Amino acid sequence: MPAITLPWCQRCGLSLDGPYDAALLCRACRTSQPIYAQAVAVWQYRGMVPHAIRQFKYHHRRRIGQWLGDAMAEAACQRLPIREIDGLVPVPLHWWKRRLRGCNPSALLAHALGTALEKPVLEHAVSRKRWTRSQTGLSSTQRWRNVQHAFTAHPTAVRRAAILLVDDVLTSGATVSACAQALRDGGARAVYVLTAARTLSPHAERRGSA
Ligand SMILES: [Zn+2]
Repeated sequence: MPAITLPWCQRCGLSLDGPYDAALLCRACRTSQPIYAQAVAVWQYRGMVPHAIRQFKYHHRRRIGQWLGDAMAEAACQRLPIREIDGLVPVPLHWWKRRLRGCNPSALLAHALGTALEKPVLEHAVSRKRWTRSQTGLSSTQRWRNVQHAFTAHPTAVRRAAILLVDDVLTSGATVSACAQALRDGGARAVYVLTAARTLSPHAERRGSA
């Protein structure tokens, strides 16, 4: 499995095979700071990883989910300030998609992680305000527009909390950034992001307004 290897950007977790500075920040994070404090992924989204994640997401292979969760817990312990984290929040599916699929894969990962890290899962702390089309097949700019203001956080669950946002794959960062914005708007004091995998496409199209 192709792991994310050092050096990686200390903010967004991208492998640093391009230009970076002494603080180990990629060019995108130097010019536009993400809304989240730090994003960590276990693997690059290539090789067997996409297959394993698809088996988990679409074929309900829960043992693969447990295995993904264990690997994510190990990465979290090594690379995130775990003691500071108050709760885990899965990236939510729209209720209709959850009904179609029967479950939210991010919530399954969050529960596996919650057990491993002994942290509460705040499953309904963030919800979708509106339906969004799938991010698959959209350009980076379209992805940011698609999820802008799509989420809302419930302040009583997240106020003053340090939250670890959980998803399966980080691609452009648009979805986790929109969720992180909702959490910060709801009063969360910090948001960290943990995914099983991330694509290595540049995220130069990240924009403060999107
Ligand atoms: Zn970065």
